[in-house]
Formats: sequence, C-alpha cells, structure tokens
Amino acid sequence: MKRRIVVIGAGIAGVAAAWSARRRGCDVTIVSAGAGASALGGGAVDDVPWEQLVRSSRALGLVPRARPLSDDLHAFSNDLGAWSLADDRLAWVATIAGRLRPARGRDHALLDFGALGGARVMLPRAERASWDADAIAAGLSDDPFARAHRITFIAADVPVLRFDEERRVADGDLALRHDGEARLAWLAARLIDGVKHAAANAVLVGPWLGAAGSRSEALSKLVGVPVGEALTGVGSPAGQRFEAARGRLLAAIGARVIDDRVTEIDRDGGALAITLRHGASLLVDGIVLALGGLIGGGLSYEPPDHRAAADLPSGVRAPFVLSLRAPVTLVAHVGADPSTAEATSSLHGPDIDVAAWPRGDRPGTLESAGIRCNGARAAEGITAAGEVVAGRPRTALEAAAAGIRAGNEA
Ligand SMILES: Cc1cc2nc3c(=O)[nH]c(=O)nc-3n(C[C@H](O)[C@H](O)[C@H](O)COP(=O)(O)OP(=O)(O)OC[C@H]3O[C@@H](n4cnc5c(N)ncnc54)[C@H](O)[C@@H]3O)c2cc1C
Repeated sequence: MKRRIVVIGAGIAGVAAAWSARRRGCDVTIVSAGAGASALGGGAVDDVPWEQLVRSSRALGLVPRARPLSDDLHAFSNDLGAWSLADDRLAWVATIAGRLRPARGRDHALLDFGALGGARVMLPRAERASWDADAIAAGLSDDPFARAHRITFIAADVPVLRFDEERRVADGDLALRHDGEARLAWLAARLIDGVKHAAANAVLVGPWLGAAGSRSEALSKLVGVPVGEALTGVGSPAGQRFEAARGRLLAAIGARVIDDRVTEIDRDGGALAITLRHGASLLVDGIVLALGGLIGGGLSYEPPDHRAAADLPSGVRAPFVLSLRAPVTLVAHVGADPSTAEATSSLHGPDIDVAAWPRGDRPGTLESAGIRCNGARAAEGITAAGEVVAGRPRTALEAAAAGIRAGNEA
C-alpha cells in the first residue's frame, strides 16, 4: 500500500510538500481552511528578507547577488508555473511606494528592472486610489538603482480604465478583466499609442495583469516593449494567481484536496489520526504541518494570563497556540541557533511591546515563534514547513524549500 500523507495547509509550504510527497509516490491529501499569507503576498519571491540582503550588501560594500537555488526548488517552481527564478542575477521590482528593491524571484507579471538598464519607463495615469502614477514615477526616478542604471520614469495620460466603475473596483477585479483576450487587446492598443507618444521602451502598470495567470508576457508581445506590474502591499492579484497555479498543480499531480479545518492530531497505534471540523476523520502514516504563522492562521497569540483564573495563570508556556491540537512543541524566541530556543515566557507572557520588534539580527517574537523542529521533523511521523516553523525566515522561497524537505521526509 502507498504511504498515506496528509498535508495540513495549502499555502506555498503545503503545496511544495504535497508536490514532493507525490513525487516519492505517496498517496497525498491536502487539507486547508482557507487563504493564508501566500494569498496575500504581492508577488516578490525572496529567499531571505530583502531588507536584510540590502543591509548586509551595503555593510560589505558589495552589490546584492542571487544565491543559487536547489534543482528541486527550480523543478517545483517550473511545475507551479507562477514564478520567474533566474540563477544568474536578482530581479529588481518597483514598489508602489516609489522604490526599486531586489527580489530573488518574482511573479511573472511583475516588471523586472534588472534587465531594463537605460530604459525610459512609462506609467499610465489612472484615477484609482491605489495608483498615483506621478508620485510613483517621481519616487522611482530618485531611486539609487534607477540612477545607477540610467532608468527614467514618466507618467503619461493613457486611458487604461475602460469603464467608469473601474476607478473603484478592487485590483483583483481589474486583473481578472485582463484574463480575456479582447480586453487585453483593447489595453494593448492604448499602450502602443502611449509608448509611441512618450518614446518609452517599457511600461509599468498597477497590479492589474491577470487573475488566472500573468498576462504580462502576452501584453508585452502585443505592445512590443516589456509591460509589467508594480509590487503592492497586501491584496495583490499575485495571490489570486498563486491560488490558480496551485489548483492546476494539485490537479496535475493527483493530490486530493479537502476544504476543512483540522482540529486535532492523535496517535492511533502506529498511525496518526486527524480530526476534521466537518468531515470524517483520517488515519494516515505521515503528516506535514504547513499551517502558516500569525497571518496565515496557523498560530495565534495567546499569553497564559488570557486564561488566568482569579489572579494567576495555571502555568508557564509559550504565549502562542496552534490552530489545532498536536503532539509538537511550540517555542517563542529563537536565536541564530534553533537549539537555543527559549520554550517559555513569564507567567504573564512576554513583554510583547518589546519582544515583538526585531533587534539587530534577532527577529521579533511574532516572526520567530512556531513549532520547534529538528530539520523538518517536528515529532514522530510529523514534519513541519513554512511560517509555522520557529526561527526560520518568513519568505516565499524559504516556505517552498522547507515544504519540499518536509514532503520528502514525511
Ligand atoms: C502581506 C504579505 C507580504 C509578503 N511579502 C513577501 C515578499 O515580498 N517576499 C517573500 O518572499 N515573502 C513575502 N511574504 C511572506 C510569504 O508570503 C510567506 O512566508 C509564505 O507565503 C508562507 O507560506 P506558508 O505556506 O507557510 O503559510 P500560509 O500561506 O499562511 O498557509 C497556511 C495555510 O494553512 C491553513 N491552516 C491553518 N491552520 C489550519 C488548520 N487547523 N486546518 C487546515 N488548514 C489550516 C491556512 O488556512 C492557510 O491556507 C509576505 C506575506 C504577506 C502576508
């Protein structure tokens, strides 16, 4: 009989775990309670937090460089089909705050300035609250990377909104409209005129280029110059595109998908029993916990005094709880060496106003708390990956790499 693996959580870590466990020939079920951090990211795909990369490069006087990724990570990314990951250089993406920043990889729709040295980039004006083409162009013109690479920016009056209500619809809805060929051709015709007028050789637009997948390549072909999106904060259609790519990948590899919440994991002889909130329970050989962190809903902040009786809490424990009951250990702070994890805080929880913030190289508690793991292993028969693991960077590529490992070892 095939080894039965259940992956709990369908963010980047869970999908990567399902992919690698299926590759080993396991029977894989993925259970998910809904959207997590992976559906909220803007499409930049980092291995280490980019601010850290910029800080260390500056301190060493070096240009930030792409670190090589494993063959497995490239294979997973190719099968997912949502990201561009070059090994020879970093991507540089524009934020709507008017800055250029490095990224190890990117959603296909984000415009990559790493390959646009000397370009004159047009930003179409649009009456949308989240898109101020003039302010973004002014900020980007002043960016050190842009100046060093002679990239210039110009805002231009090019009609990119077709109907009045498009001034107000969510970015995701506008992105969805560009999934259709006719609407993409309409946009391309306007951009062709604009590019000619502005003598531009690239176009930066808001996060509007496709919901089911990136339309940036098709649009660039129609317009004749690279056209891509800027990076937004929360709620970019890059999250929708990840979810669409995830659906295609899970169907292609034959993983079973259950939309439900796991409430408990227990040992049942040599197997593990999973209790679902709505469905029948599952008996399996291995489990991957890919529950996400505080944003994804895998962890929540619950200091012991929240449950205190008259005066004192009943005991000392890490001030976080998992979204399910499982035989694993949670830790609050983790230094550079995970084996030095502090397992508890005071009776009244940590001084969260202080501990929550990063200090020097130490990440804040909210970005460090999670399941204590030895490699991917959290307990007998249970591996963990992604933001739910204590002391690991909270980035997309970390989640994918850890997911691949956890799926291999489950
Ligand atoms: C706004 C934002 C911007 C970001 N920007 C960047 C960036 O620029 N670059 C970068 O590299 N990274 C970025 N990240 C971080 C990156 O997106 C995450 O590190 C990564 O997506 C985490 O993936 P994950 O699979 O661990 O967790 P998640 O994507 O959170 O997935 C966890 C899943 O587990 C499910 N779940 C939880 N509990 C249960 C349960 N009991 N039963 C069933 N299912 C459950 C949740 O519903 C969720 O779907 C950003 C994140 C956010 C939120």
